[in-house]
Amino acid sequence: MNTLQMADNIQDYDAFLTLFDQYQNFALSTHINPDGDAIGSELGLYFFLTKLGKSVKIFNTDIVPPNYRFLPFWDGIENAHSVGIYRPEVLIVLDASTLERIGKVLSNTLHPIHSLVNIDHHATAEAFGDINLIIPTASSTSEIVYKLIKHHQFPICEACALCLYTGLMFDTGCFRHSNTTAETHRIAAELIEIGGFSPDEVYRNVYEQVPVPKIHLLSEVLSTLQITDDGKIASVYATQAMFRKTKTTADAVEGVVNQIQAIAGVEVALCASEMTDRSTKVSLRSQGCVDVSQLAAEFQGGGHARAAGCRIVMPYPSAIAALVQASQRYIDPNYMRYGN
Ligand code: 5GP
Ligand code: MN
Repeated sequence: MNTLQMADNIQDYDAFLTLFDQYQNFALSTHINPDGDAIGSELGLYFFLTKLGKSVKIFNTDIVPPNYRFLPFWDGIENAHSVGIYRPEVLIVLDASTLERIGKVLSNTLHPIHSLVNIDHHATAEAFGDINLIIPTASSTSEIVYKLIKHHQFPICEACALCLYTGLMFDTGCFRHSNTTAETHRIAAELIEIGGFSPDEVYRNVYEQVPVPKIHLLSEVLSTLQITDDGKIASVYATQAMFRKTKTTADAVEGVVNQIQAIAGVEVALCASEMTDRSTKVSLRSQGCVDVSQLAAEFQGGGHARAAGCRIVMPYPSAIAALVQASQRYIDPNYMRYGN
């Protein structure tokens, strides 16, 4: 196994790029409930590889959410049932933390003949590939794909620039989260120049196509707000009954947790969603004093220091209680000794 942790030097990228000389058939995949970075990075890599003359297929477990359907080739992404007997020479998994995160069916059926490659920037990323390009300091997986292409000294095409910019924009929270650096802005500027798109157009496509039912759900979810006595932990939840009432599904909850995080004095924000199998999906956010990727890892999840998630096999009230208690322990390590 060859892990290129913190691969920000030339030799590491060189080792990685020999794959593109050796093989012809590539498959790409990303995590379930794909977000802007997941889809942006895999479509960006798709355009790079096809321009190199490679045969490339993309397989995702979940459909492309409507707000990413302005990206070129989004409708070329196939589902898990399309794999059949197809075997790529190389499978590249992007932004996924663990192989299981691409979905059960895909991780059991999509097997590369020669090499499994893992490109990721999560702090909790597992080195599950034969080759692992894991750069936790990168703002996004899209940024890693950008650096890979630049190192190859291959021109970035317009379509690729738009996809990578979308990934970069999404994972930095529109260039405002702590993973935003001067370099992120330089890369974004270059992608805008190459792609010839306007940033406000991308923003409007991703964030301002909100369906009315999602606003109704938002109002239900926000009304469940609970804040601990010390004002440091805020939680909300979404139930199956709310999804039925507002004619939405669990993916409509995306983004709500960021609003909870914005409350003055809150250190840890969490949004719990009741799933159909009675498990609970939780999104966690931190203002910086708590590493929520460690907190999520206690519940078999993962992510980044300030944005993480997990799925807990418990009804949502117990899941919230367990997470609030664990958060309290992270905020104040002496908490348990007080007899709580
Ligand atoms: P979100 O709360 O936006 O769904 O996810 C925030 C971050 O946590 C993302 O980087 C995402 O990849 C990660 N994350 C969310 N849920 C899970 C999970 O169940 N397992 C792992 N390993 N990471 C997760
Ligand atoms: Mn990402």
